[in-house]
Amino acid sequence: MKRPILLHPDPRLKKACAPVDDLTDELRALADDMLATMYDAPGVGLAAPQVGVLNRLIVLDCVKEEGEAPRPLIMFNPQVVAASEEESTYEEGCLSIPEHFADVTRPAEVDVRWIDRSGAEQNERFAGLWATCVQHEIDHLEGKLFIDYLKPLRRQMITRKMAKLKRELARG
Ligand SMILES: [Zn+2]
Repeated sequence: MKRPILLHPDPRLKKACAPVDDLTDELRALADDMLATMYDAPGVGLAAPQVGVLNRLIVLDCVKEEGEAPRPLIMFNPQVVAASEEESTYEEGCLSIPEHFADVTRPAEVDVRWIDRSGAEQNERFAGLWATCVQHEIDHLEGKLFIDYLKPLRRQMITRKMAKLKRELARG
C-alpha cells in the first residue's frame, strides 16, 4: 500500500528518529509500504520520517540498469560504521523536495550495519550511487536533508519555493 510522502518544509522531517527495539509485523508492513511508495514515485530511497513515522527505518534500491534485477533493501537501525577518506560528488534529489537537485559531496564508500526484515544483522560495504543513497537516507533519521549541505542562500531559496508549492497544493 502506497503512503503519502511528506514535503519539505515539515517539522517531522527535522526530527531525530527513535531506534527500533521491537521488530513488529506493523513495522515490517510499514517497510513494505515504503518500498511500494518508493518504486511508485519513482525513487531510489525512502526514510520512515518521509511518511511521517519517526523510527529508524530506511528502504533503498539503487539498481538503475534496464533489465537488471531489482535489489530492494530494508534497513532497521542502519549505521555507518566506517567511511572512506575518498569522497565523491553526486547530484542529489529527494522525494520530499521534488524537482530540486544539487551536488553533495560525501565519503565515496561506507560500511553499513543494519537489521534486516527478518531481524538478522547485516553488514555491507557500499560504493557509487548506493553509498550516496544510503548516507542520504540515514541522514533523514537525524532530521538532516541534502539541502542542509548547501550554502544558506541556496537552501533558503529552495525552502521558499517548496513552501510556496505546498501552499498551492493545499489550495488545490
Ligand atoms: Zn531524501
